[in-house]
Amino acid sequence: MSYCRFSERSSVYVYHDINGMLRCCSCSLHGPEFYDTRTGILEHLQEHIDKGGRVPSDVIGALREEIRLFGDSTFGAEGNQR
Ligand SMILES: [Zn+2]
Repeated sequence: MSYCRFSERSSVYVYHDINGMLRCCSCSLHGPEFYDTRTGILEHLQEHIDKGGRVPSDVIGALREEIRLFGDSTFGAEGNQR
């Protein structure tokens, strides 16, 4: 499942990769691309925003909602389905 792809409104491409990790694909910050917690990638996306990147607000909202529904870990939860 992809949260957002590169577009006019998004400078990040975030999705669940096949191993269940959240990935900031081709990350422009040269940080780690893989995260096993939703709060981990939320903090990372905030860093993109702080540095002038464009992250759609619905992506942030979706991740927060998933934390509420499925918990923080990206493994072993229904939110893991692509
Ligand atoms: Zn990134």
